[in-house]
Amino acid sequence: MLALVLLTGYSACAQQLTLPDAPSHHKFFDRQNTVAFSTLAGLIAVDAVTTQRLTNSGQAREANPLWRPMVQQGWQGEMAASALGFSAALGVAYTFHKTGHHKMERWANWFTVGIEAANDTHNLFLDARR
Ligand SMILES: [Zn+2]
Repeated sequence: MLALVLLTGYSACAQQLTLPDAPSHHKFFDRQNTVAFSTLAGLIAVDAVTTQRLTNSGQAREANPLWRPMVQQGWQGEMAASALGFSAALGVAYTFHKTGHHKMERWANWFTVGIEAANDTHNLFLDARR
């Protein structure tokens, strides 16, 4: 009986010791990623609207040479560019997630959100000066 108590006590202790070292597994669409992707989607929508307003008024042109040909096509091109940009961000995050680089995954998500927020701020600033 004493041996059984000692054994279960020991195994419980061993489990406690191994838990912090276990690799962190989380679902791809967990709370933090869902918040990051939703925020990014909203920021991309603001980017699309402000970019079209600025380019249609002739006040500015798309600065990114990759997006420029699409953005110049008007709303359809803008939507395509937005979808591509969002898919790329999701693809990068998913690649990091699947390869077990969860810290890089989080970092990349919030970095993208930060870049897009700065971009929106710039667009809104230009738009406000019209
Ligand atoms: Zn992950």
